[in-house]
Amino acid sequence: MNLSIIIPLLNEEESLQELHAWIGKVMLSEGYSYEILFIDDGSSDNSWQLIQKLSEEHPQVRGLRFLRNYGKSQALHAGFKAAQGDVVITMDADLQDNPEEIPELYNLITRDGYDLVSGWKKKRYDSVLSKNMPSKLFNWAARRTSGVKLHDFNCGLKAFNKTVIKNIEVSGEMHRYIPVLAKNAGFSNIGEKVVAHQARKYGKTKFGMERFINGLLDLITIWFISKFARRPMHLFGALGVIMFIIGFGFAIYLGIDKLFINKFGRLITDRPQFYIALTAMLLGTQLFLAGFLGEILVRNRRNDSRYTISEVVNFKDEYI
Ligand code: UDP
Ligand code: MG
Repeated sequence: MNLSIIIPLLNEEESLQELHAWIGKVMLSEGYSYEILFIDDGSSDNSWQLIQKLSEEHPQVRGLRFLRNYGKSQALHAGFKAAQGDVVITMDADLQDNPEEIPELYNLITRDGYDLVSGWKKKRYDSVLSKNMPSKLFNWAARRTSGVKLHDFNCGLKAFNKTVIKNIEVSGEMHRYIPVLAKNAGFSNIGEKVVAHQARKYGKTKFGMERFINGLLDLITIWFISKFARRPMHLFGALGVIMFIIGFGFAIYLGIDKLFINKFGRLITDRPQFYIALTAMLLGTQLFLAGFLGEILVRNRRNDSRYTISEVVNFKDEYI
């Protein structure tokens, strides 16, 4: 199979049929073998009924419905797990991403050997204040911390080599940083393609201003994870040892001073160095323990899923 098209959606009943028809048209003209994976992230409208209907009429349509709303990242995760195509495309369901871009994205992966190609909404049709400006700042911060040189991390339209998506784990709200996850997993051939972008035709955006706060926190997490998640002892252990040595140094100093130099001077507990020694040694031990516990966790990590699926159409069990 050439292509898997993964579409996470939340309450997008107005767009689904139009989107499906549009993708179908492009697929037909290019002659691809493909599947469309609709991941219903707990919609409360008629989205799931529409997906069921589409899948009855078209064998390429597969659907998966979450029991409740788990978020776009989880939806993508479920889609990645199920995808069977050589090239995997992700796109939003709201008709903002243009299916006509798919053939060129496909070529960039298969012909030019990219691991991942991210769309770049160079000309955006979203509100300037609530989206375009903060997103510029946000992309800049992401570029600086991750070293991945993309203009538009959060673009829903992306293409992947199958190996990439089978080797990354999208959790939390990390869908914004999939290219960074890919880079951390060792896929360095990351490209970018300017893509057409439309204004939202139906419904309204599912992410408010909190996206930027969450996005920034996720950025810190991802920086931390990429550096230390596999070796927590190297951060916490090192900090702990340094703290402990500082504290111990002060304790030795106080001891020598009291025993040999100022035998009849102030009480040790009256001296500021005492409190520095005490805090530093306590903190040092705690940090060291945190590192140690971290190492144990890393070693015991299970691959547990974080969502519950309530219904499927056209799915074989092994892909859930
Ligand atoms: N979406 C989802 N789960 C959520 C929120 C959004 O699957 O919890 C889907 C949504 O239906 C759409 C895509 O993610 O297909 C992008 O969402 P939206 O268009 O609201 O984001 P924006 O374009 O405003 O960044
Ligand atoms: Mg949108």
